[in-house]
Amino acid sequence: MSTLHNELAKRRTFAIISHPDAGKTTMTEKLLLWGNAIQIAGSVKGKRGPHAKSDWMTMEQERGISVTSSVMQFPYKDRVVNLLDTPGHEDFSEDTYRTLTAVDSVLMMIDGAKGVEDRTIKLMEVCRLRDTPILSFINKMDRESRDPVELLDEIENVLKIVAAPINWPLGSGKEFLGVYNFYTDTIHVYQQGMGHTIPDDIQIKGLESDEATQLMGVYASEYREQIEFVRGATHQFELDEYLAGRMTPVFFGTALGNFGVREMLDGFVEWAPTPRPRATHERMVEPAEEQFSGFIFKIQANMDPKHRDRIAFMRVCSGRYEQGMKMKHVRLGKDIKIADAVTFMAGDRSAVEEAIAGDIIGLHNHGTIQIGDAFTQGENLKFTGIPHFAPELFRRIRLKDPLKMKQLQKGLQQLSEEGSTQVFFPLNNNDIVVGAVGVLQFEVVAYRLKDEYKVEAIYENVSVTTARWCECDDSKKLEEFKRKCAENLAVDGGGHLTYLAPSRVNLSLTQERHPDVVFRATREH
Ligand code: GDP
Repeated sequence: MSTLHNELAKRRTFAIISHPDAGKTTMTEKLLLWGNAIQIAGSVKGKRGPHAKSDWMTMEQERGISVTSSVMQFPYKDRVVNLLDTPGHEDFSEDTYRTLTAVDSVLMMIDGAKGVEDRTIKLMEVCRLRDTPILSFINKMDRESRDPVELLDEIENVLKIVAAPINWPLGSGKEFLGVYNFYTDTIHVYQQGMGHTIPDDIQIKGLESDEATQLMGVYASEYREQIEFVRGATHQFELDEYLAGRMTPVFFGTALGNFGVREMLDGFVEWAPTPRPRATHERMVEPAEEQFSGFIFKIQANMDPKHRDRIAFMRVCSGRYEQGMKMKHVRLGKDIKIADAVTFMAGDRSAVEEAIAGDIIGLHNHGTIQIGDAFTQGENLKFTGIPHFAPELFRRIRLKDPLKMKQLQKGLQQLSEEGSTQVFFPLNNNDIVVGAVGVLQFEVVAYRLKDEYKVEAIYENVSVTTARWCECDDSKKLEEFKRKCAENLAVDGGGHLTYLAPSRVNLSLTQERHPDVVFRATREH
């Protein structure tokens, strides 16, 4: 047991949240560089090199947006860090929300020239639901940035979280000199052009030192005054407040220049929480429990074109996974043997031999695993809070070649297992309706149907505005509801009864007419 405790103390599992373009991908590259996971930074995203590490879809590379998430494990100091990548584009927000259920903390990237942007605000709301601890990095200080005092105010006022600066930028843009650490009274000096390497840490001890005066030149008194003002006007960092999600330590730097990243990462591995307990409907699951448990937060089809398989991503919540072990698939009530779980060490898949709470493992899925599924060593547990939202956009999908119906159904079924699109089969006709939260997902589905399932499909408009999952305890009333509303009813990919409403007005009228039927806008997996 004590070795499990020791190992848990080393684990840090987190995700980066940011508005698109704030520098999430660049930061990921640098973190992998610090973790020695890649030799030369700059190879994470396909748009910048042929050896994409965290991306796998050509489409994604063409568009330069991260469509899917992946998992990267790397060592730093004596810690084991798990970084879960999240798609930046808002059409894939559901995927991001679910990934956030599998992490213990987040790193929030803010563009120093732009400040707090919409997506950051939304993602912050999601983090707040679970009081996820947030560490902040104000990026792109090598460019002209906004007044850092104003940026801190914005974090506090807009994001409603106390900001505790750990270090402070000395200038920005062409005149960015480095950062001053309030707690060690040390200046870390910025050197340009070191983005692809691990730069030396050039330090000047003491803000009042002669060396510091020399570095700051004509700005010396201005910077010293500002730093004194900020020291007095801002909060001291308090670990408990950070862990409770009420305070965020703030670092400044440039991901592209790989500067300030070391300081941030040192703070991160020191303060970020070790694997946290997870709630189930039955009880809290503690990471140090001996019995194994975990839940699926993400499914990805055809990750590796050579393998053509589907991977279910599991967050281990307690105990220890060992190769070849048996687990209970709780929803199916069946024991299964897991011989070949995978991990994503620096982007290359390799067989995992062991994993503990906080780690992510990938299970090969042959259609029996769904998002939200729990795996245990016998106990019936159901993890809470893994959301599934009703889609807001709908299209009828039609085949160019009608003989390929089977492939189309299979493709849609498998892609909807990933959770970002949903497929509906109306009770009354042979249409197939695809629902999504963002428009881009329709394109992704069409592209992937063609690329992965060799099916060409086209979309048509359909008069559906919103969908609700329907339940009714009274079987007679349910039958009556099905009879009366048949023309708007469908089953989704998981076999659940769904009402496809042509308009909001229609939905509220139907709800009034059938008060015993529950209409749900979200379905917990
Ligand atoms: P993402 O959309 O959040 O993943 O952002 P990227 O990491 O792809 O960065 C968006 C753009 O900002 C890219 O052109 C990066 O090279 C650039 N960028 C990222 N970090 C920095 C930085 O620290 N300084 C400057 N000048 N540019 C940066």
